Amino acid sequence: MIVPATQEIDVSDTSPGIADSANPLPDTLRFKAAAPLVDIGANLTHDSFRRDVQAVIERARDAGVGTLIVTGTDLEHAHQALELAARHRGLHATAGVHPHEASQWSATPAQEFAALYREPGIVAVGECGLDFNRNFSSPADQERAFEAQLGLAVEAGLPLFIHERDAGPRMLEMLRSWRDDIADAVIHCFTGERKTLHGYLDLDLHIGLTGWLCDERRGHHLRELLADIPLNRLMVETDCPYLLPRNLPAKAPGRRHEPALLPWIVGEIAHWRGDGEGDICRATTATARRFFRLEDN
Ligand SMILES: [Zn+2]
Repeated sequence: MIVPATQEIDVSDTSPGIADSANPLPDTLRFKAAAPLVDIGANLTHDSFRRDVQAVIERARDAGVGTLIVTGTDLEHAHQALELAARHRGLHATAGVHPHEASQWSATPAQEFAALYREPGIVAVGECGLDFNRNFSSPADQERAFEAQLGLAVEAGLPLFIHERDAGPRMLEMLRSWRDDIADAVIHCFTGERKTLHGYLDLDLHIGLTGWLCDERRGHHLRELLADIPLNRLMVETDCPYLLPRNLPAKAPGRRHEPALLPWIVGEIAHWRGDGEGDICRATTATARRFFRLEDN
């Protein structure tokens, strides 16, 4: 089941719609990466990609984004993500239960997830974590589901793809107590403050950045934090179809974000860090390949 409110979508924004596949992206939104990129958070099982996922993947490749980590936010979407990964070169999948869905956590899916983690197409446990911004599941249910998935990640020896919103202090407490046991973790779509960022970096965790930093209403504080993130801890992601960057030079069809737009976000990161785009591409790609243990392309 698709839950439209899931993940980073701001409920005050218009939801991403089905794009017009006959008119995919205007030329002004065709950005080519300076070097190959990995989009570590692409929700390609979202309904808005149902009609044209093949074209979306091809457009990403044309833009230099040839490797995509497809996010699995519940059991059904994890299976769909794994199927996509099996069908398309350069795609890999994660499998977990998003904090919004945490109230549905039970022992049965835990067993089914453990089986999924033996599939080579699954490269991380997640999306899982804590979201105290909206509390679509109660904080107690979120902690219980997250704790269970931390345990599964330890058993599977896989890294974690973590969602945290307005829950930095509690997330840090939980990760501190698990840090020696878990292989590795990325805080995807980091949106927090400097103190939380340094807490994660002190635990030797990774940081995923999205187009959130292009949002003048709530994301510009991230510009000043960019230089604090070592390049071997930084990865980039669209979190598409959500979080369409608000400073694009043209409208995206259906207000839908897609992996081909990732180079725009990398350009913003490079600009505010004062680095070259090619350097950010090469470093984040090397970090992602190491983090997710990618062998192919
Ligand atoms: Zn998320």
